[in-house]
Amino acid sequence: MAHLEGLGFAVDTFDRGAYRREDPVEVARLRALDDARALLIARDMPLLRSGERGLDALMPIGEIEALGGAQVEALLGLAPGGAPIFAALLEDEAVELRSDASEGFFDRRILVVPGREDLKLIDLRSIAMGGLVPPDQAAMLATSKAVMHWHAHHRFCANCGALTNVAVAGWRRDCPVCKATHCPRTDPVVIMLAVDGDACVLGRQPRFPKGMYSALAGFVEPGETVEAAVRREISEEAGVACGAVRYFASQPWPFPTSLMIGCFAQALDRSMKVDGVELEDVRWFTRDEAAALIERRHPDRLTAPTPVAIAHHLLKQWTYEGVKFS
Ligand SMILES: [Zn+2]
Repeated sequence: MAHLEGLGFAVDTFDRGAYRREDPVEVARLRALDDARALLIARDMPLLRSGERGLDALMPIGEIEALGGAQVEALLGLAPGGAPIFAALLEDEAVELRSDASEGFFDRRILVVPGREDLKLIDLRSIAMGGLVPPDQAAMLATSKAVMHWHAHHRFCANCGALTNVAVAGWRRDCPVCKATHCPRTDPVVIMLAVDGDACVLGRQPRFPKGMYSALAGFVEPGETVEAAVRREISEEAGVACGAVRYFASQPWPFPTSLMIGCFAQALDRSMKVDGVELEDVRWFTRDEAAALIERRHPDRLTAPTPVAIAHHLLKQWTYEGVKFS
């Protein structure tokens, strides 16, 4: 598969080295090194530092203490040069909520760190779409945000209700009462382009930006294969029956903890039945129309997702290169 230019959060350049997490002495040694860095999350939003070279997500690790300490820390791994990278969830009180204009698609809370003009809280979707930090930092932020979101929402044991303890360098929570262990979750989502000859299926959810159409998507259910989930979701949302399914590429999608599994599906015919619940519209687009969406020249001002999202690359692959199922 070719490199997918601009795909968000999919750059995996740091060494996770999970074996290091088991050794608290080694984790403490790494944390004490001069070149240790931290990615900071507060109230589910990344903190960036503005400096002479623009915005930077990697802070000196001492910032954690300077900002009042962390609720949770996690060792992400080592950067290519060997610098230890940590993620930290700051106390909620470290930041102030000034306003909240959030709606369906975007997190538009205005959060600030009082007295620290150099620190900006920016939602991760805007960071990725605006290319505000280098792609490797966006990927580290995606890991940090997903892990810290899980900690913030899974403080109590799902088995007995007791408060759990952070373990394994931030990658597990252990219950002191019933001894159950709990690991950060990743939710698999299939996102797929159903195609038939020179046409493909795109739909729009009510929460999408005006005029945007995208590939259909849905959560994989327990006991289901990726292929079955693809066929089921297309059938449920568009009433289109599909046969062959082909994997394309995947993308971490930390809103809050998904893994997007991109696929193509061979539609068996061009029939369609919209459920009207999850999608407000779904329809067939020709290859020429798809090109107009991607190139932002559609006569009705319809658009496709930007390159940050895997839906863009699914559509682009089929539009310009085509897809083979055998
Ligand atoms: Zn328990």
